[in-house]
Amino acid sequence: SLSIGIVGLPNVGKSTLFNALTKSANALAANYPFATIEPNVGIVGVPDARLAQLATIHGSARILPAKVEFVDIAGLVKGASEGQGRGNQFLANIRETDAICQVIRVFTDPDVTHVDGDIAPERDIETINTELILADLQTIEKAVPRLQKEARTNKDRKAALDAAEAASKILDGGTTLYASGMDLTDLRELHLLTAKPFLYVFNLDADELVDTDLRTRLSAIVAPAEAVFLDAKIESELVELSDEEALELLQSVGQDESGLSQLARVGFETLGLQTYLTAGPKETRAWTIKKGSTAPEAAGVIHTDFQRGFIKAEVVSFDDLMTAGSVASARSAGKARIEGKDYIMRDGDVVEFRFNV
Ligand code: GDP
Repeated sequence: SLSIGIVGLPNVGKSTLFNALTKSANALAANYPFATIEPNVGIVGVPDARLAQLATIHGSARILPAKVEFVDIAGLVKGASEGQGRGNQFLANIRETDAICQVIRVFTDPDVTHVDGDIAPERDIETINTELILADLQTIEKAVPRLQKEARTNKDRKAALDAAEAASKILDGGTTLYASGMDLTDLRELHLLTAKPFLYVFNLDADELVDTDLRTRLSAIVAPAEAVFLDAKIESELVELSDEEALELLQSVGQDESGLSQLARVGFETLGLQTYLTAGPKETRAWTIKKGSTAPEAAGVIHTDFQRGFIKAEVVSFDDLMTAGSVASARSAGKARIEGKDYIMRDGDVVEFRFNV
């Protein structure tokens, strides 16, 4: 499955946030058929209010939300791209992830020193991005002679060479490839770090959570990447509380949703994922697919046999199902669609697959 690597400078609250993610993973594991959870992996359920409604009309015994996996990537320090600290390991680990989540310190605490002296979110983002950009420039520099040689004998390789050279210019200017908006298709083979989707977590003081001016300013720094605002200390407390107590704590700091939930939603979106839904007496479940997946591809997420033996899908949109009150009523109201192998799945599709075994 896809994962998001969490990176950040020392003392920004990564471990605090990660502990909350790990506790969330353990809580989910209680009714989720997970394989073993690695110690450096945290998992959050993607909140989706539709699941509880579906479970009610189907009398489902349990609800399984979609989930997002975060990997703790330690070792980012200045000079990581030159192998400083555990720089090489850091780069190897981050290369394996599908998106990069930067944790940025905004909270002030005289007892927690900042590696560069003072609190400066914009500078910290630049410090991290510079390491990633330098690593990409090294990758490109190594690849270009080979690409030049290939392009001389094979016209098809010219696109890869051109893309590498264009990317090099963008990176030289201090912009990540993701933020540049450049078409990344011909760069894929180079597995560049800054070509991955980025998202940002700003770790705020509790009283800053309601500071809309601050949030607007910080969002603008990282656009077009998405920003999540949270207080890691509060997140680490929330995962210890019952739902009611957690809501009370959130409301006391002017929030209606935990930072982890926001992070799950934004992370899911950043990875280019969507869900479709299945519901029955056993369980109501959100299944994760890539945006643009066809019905057979979606079926394959449940079981590879479902994809191989795919015949058709019976699809009711969530809204139609809620209006009708049951699948049977939706059918008689003509709201159940039979879709074939070319159907592109839509968000909110409630699905039953027919297949040959
Ligand atoms: P890491 O080095 O990035 O993993 O940072 P840690 O999670 O270990 O946090 C460093 C210190 O900052 C610890 O003492 C945390 O308790 C504290 N800390 C983390 N997040 C917050 C926060 O949101 N507010 C405050 N005041 N302290 C925090």
